[in-house]
Amino acid sequence: MQWTKWRPDGRRAILTLLLTATPAVGAAQAAAPVSLALATETGFAAATALLYPRDTYTGRDPDGVPCYVERPFSLEERRLLREHFGIEEPGRLYLSDSGPGAYLMYDTERDPGAGHLVRTYRVGAGSIRRQGETWEELERRLRTMRPGDFPAAVRNPNTSLASLDPAARPAFERMLRAARRAGHRVRVVEVHRSPERQAYLLVQGGGLTFTATSKHSAGRAVDLVVGDGNLRKKRTRARWTAFRRWVAGFEAGRFRLIGEPGKSWDWPHVELPGGVLGYRSVEELLDAASRAAIHSTHDPARSGATSLARPRSGGDQIRHHGSAGWAALPPGRIRAGRGDAGSAYPALARPGYQ
Ligand SMILES: [Zn+2]
Repeated sequence: MQWTKWRPDGRRAILTLLLTATPAVGAAQAAAPVSLALATETGFAAATALLYPRDTYTGRDPDGVPCYVERPFSLEERRLLREHFGIEEPGRLYLSDSGPGAYLMYDTERDPGAGHLVRTYRVGAGSIRRQGETWEELERRLRTMRPGDFPAAVRNPNTSLASLDPAARPAFERMLRAARRAGHRVRVVEVHRSPERQAYLLVQGGGLTFTATSKHSAGRAVDLVVGDGNLRKKRTRARWTAFRRWVAGFEAGRFRLIGEPGKSWDWPHVELPGGVLGYRSVEELLDAASRAAIHSTHDPARSGATSLARPRSGGDQIRHHGSAGWAALPPGRIRAGRGDAGSAYPALARPGYQ
């Protein structure tokens, strides 16, 4: 029997059967409704894990549409995911790619493919999302903000390679040294980016198209400019294209660029794949949500322990329009993660947005 070849309808039928059958099986335990509910949840989770393995929600189809998870979610699972990971609709989760380092992504609307723009987040990435706030709510909040609402510190990019993830830094340093030796006039315009600055850039860009969880915040991306950085100049464009082609071939192509060497909506962005923390499956995510729920009953302040990375900054404040006043960012939830490897955001064609 081949589970993975079953139609989703068939899988749902089995789950429905299981859910309707479970109370009958457990009728003898009517005196212990909590145990019964737990048993039902556990049975449901086990069945869904079997019926919807990772490869059923991995990557994108040939039209660029993410393979969203088709697994049904119980009310309890939905509650946990909303509360601890800001997910309003778990049916918009999918795995970034088929590689061993793939991680769960969440779209705040369904991506129809064909270059349509949707907002995508790495699940569990630290960000300026507040405790209990969903990603959708964060987007609505950012739309009410103006660049002037952010502290001055976020206006200046960090250009120090020392701010990179220590595991990624040597590769970037090697690449830059080799590029300059090869005659490329390249300069660093941004390295590590705090989630606050990421949010600032999003708000500056209209808050409509963005990735709020950039690889810059994980310390695995650098924005590089060639020559005077003016792509309207034929000469600069040619030199930059040559540099990007050179990067694509450096050390067996270990660095990732956005788009093609001569065609991109984000020319400066160079990132080192891998090394980014994330959740590898829906089951792993649900398990983390359950653990966070248990933890939160003991220490509510830490119930949002859904951030996978260490905080690198903290205590910054962002002013919010309207009556909300100043909203402090709780330390420990500050550091963001990935830039979306699969999505295109043409509106962010200015340097330094991915
Ligand atoms: Zn970038």
